Amino acid sequence: MKKEIFLCAINNILSGTCLEDCKFCTQSVRYHADIERYNYKSIDTIVEEAKKAKSYGALGYCLVTAGKGLDDKKVDFVARAAQAVKAEVDNINLIACNGTASLEQLRYLKEHGIDSYNHNLETSEAYYPSICTTHNWSERYETCQNAKSVGLQLCSGGIFGMGETAEDRTSLLNSIASLSPESTPLNFYHPNIALPIKSRNISRDEALEIVKRARKLFGENKLLMVAAGRELLFDGCEELMFEAGANSMVIGNYLTTVGDAPQKDKKMLERLGYGVATTCDGK
Ligand code: SF4
Repeated sequence: MKKEIFLCAINNILSGTCLEDCKFCTQSVRYHADIERYNYKSIDTIVEEAKKAKSYGALGYCLVTAGKGLDDKKVDFVARAAQAVKAEVDNINLIACNGTASLEQLRYLKEHGIDSYNHNLETSEAYYPSICTTHNWSERYETCQNAKSVGLQLCSGGIFGMGETAEDRTSLLNSIASLSPESTPLNFYHPNIALPIKSRNISRDEALEIVKRARKLFGENKLLMVAAGRELLFDGCEELMFEAGANSMVIGNYLTTVGDAPQKDKKMLERLGYGVATTCDGK
């Protein structure tokens, strides 16, 4: 058998209600994208969905909330959801993805069962003002540092193909490497007609080059995930991304876009001779 692939599932537990203006994001209310918008899911639903994801082999389970960052209500809800999932699902790495966060908020999440915090740098520091004007890149970097300082694992990556230059890509990869995250999601922009960024400026070969460079830069034992955009760039040729260095992927749906069925992904991994990871050490 070839290497084992770490599977991660995403649960959008609060969707589409964000006031920020990130030009790549359908969850911003500013762009009126045609997505499902809802307030907090019930904790019972979140637990049931976690059990289902685990049954498909997901070892990472990410609780995502729309919005710029955590507030008291949100942090309390995520903590309660984390406790409930941990009580019912064994051997699951719980990731919270809730935007900018203070040391105190992150400590609270850790105390209630969150293992890892996902906060992506999204793009280079220089290009960031072109994709978002309502908050800044340094706040993002600081939240990543906060997650590490409270002892959470850090999951941090970005999105490629949003109109950035080759220099921006290099700069983003170097910034991610400077944080030394345990895992990195590489997302490839998925255009949506409602969004200001209309098209994707990245080819499959360029995406593969990014995976290769990221693997070299981040080291052999880190989790390197091909996340959003996988179905657009690698459908039917997933072995290319694994050969380039990816050892992790998202199964099921993304935040607001539909992914391949987990059963289809399972068959794909079997056909290509890859196993499914049962531990989180990235080896
Ligand atoms: S802050 Fe997060 S949820 Fe809000 S628009 Fe930006 S990426 Fe989307």
